[in-house]
Amino acid sequence: MTEQPDWDCRRAGEELDAFVRGDLPLAEAGRMQSHLDRCGHCAEVARYEQAFRDRLRAIDTDTCCPEALLQRIRDLLASPPRES
Ligand SMILES: [Zn+2]
Repeated sequence: MTEQPDWDCRRAGEELDAFVRGDLPLAEAGRMQSHLDRCGHCAEVARYEQAFRDRLRAIDTDTCCPEALLQRIRDLLASPPRES
């Protein structure tokens, strides 16, 4: 059995979305987690994404939000990610 190399930031970035959604298989999620433990930058991005999704979920479940704000959030989500 060969040890697989740790993910680099590029790979972590590609899988971050699935990781935050909880869609990564357990083995992959574990490798993502070990990268996040080592990499402050990716951990920061993951934390931000997580908080954002938590907030969105809260908005979805209790619909106290003005429609205009919801639309703004949808627009933000629909816009392409910024080049870094
Ligand atoms: Zn990283």
